[in-house]
Amino acid sequence: MARKIIVAIDGYSSSGKSTMARDLASRVGYRYIDSGAMYRAVALYALEHEMINADGSVAEASLIDALDGIDIDFAVQADGSQHTMLNGVDVEREIRQLRVSSVVSPVAAIGAVRHRLVALQQAMGRSRGIVMDGRDIGTTVFPDAELKIFVDASPQTRAQRRFSELVEKGSQVSYADVLANVVHRDEIDRTRAESPLRRANDAIAIDNSHLTREQQSEWLMEQFNRVINSLEQ
Ligand code: C5P
Repeated sequence: MARKIIVAIDGYSSSGKSTMARDLASRVGYRYIDSGAMYRAVALYALEHEMINADGSVAEASLIDALDGIDIDFAVQADGSQHTMLNGVDVEREIRQLRVSSVVSPVAAIGAVRHRLVALQQAMGRSRGIVMDGRDIGTTVFPDAELKIFVDASPQTRAQRRFSELVEKGSQVSYADVLANVVHRDEIDRTRAESPLRRANDAIAIDNSHLTREQQSEWLMEQFNRVINSLEQ
């Protein structure tokens, strides 16, 4: 049987990394984990428990106290997709809303939140055979991943993608607000003290601004096969 590896896909907000990761996982029969959904679920919990102050800052001490009572998991649906579960409740729709996107980066900058989620993510990858996407997967969660990818695209391309997704789901948002949110999150993710977003030295970079979904999926499949072949030599 072919050896199973870990595929770490990092990059900026809405760079299309989840689509790439999901497509690869389904082609090779691996489990796909959206680590951003886990940070979003914690952010939703903070919103629902009044842990976001009027100025948008996080009531850090309260959230840290509550962490032990926050359970995050994924439930596989009949069509094979996965829904994020927060304390047993399906929150897949809620966590994609702009009100969650607006507070998730400050929540994800809290060291105690990261430690808890990184430990959960590492447990999910213990038996390998996993494709995980996020910001720090190749640098912090799985520094020993056999295949690391860093995805980029211009802020405008990324905002347009997220905007179309939100409109398709019936959200009433403006492109300008989505672009502002993408740029703002990039800035927080890049400059935070705890595992900031950066390309791992051994990650392969790809700018997918001008690639179709099929082209990027094909490209990733080639990278995957190359690694598997080299391990089987
Ligand atoms: O991937 P997505 O845009 O859904 O992630 C939401 C937010 O969660 C990011 O803007 C980032 O602040 C945070 N995140 C993170 N580390 C990860 C995944 C996401 O800090 N591994």
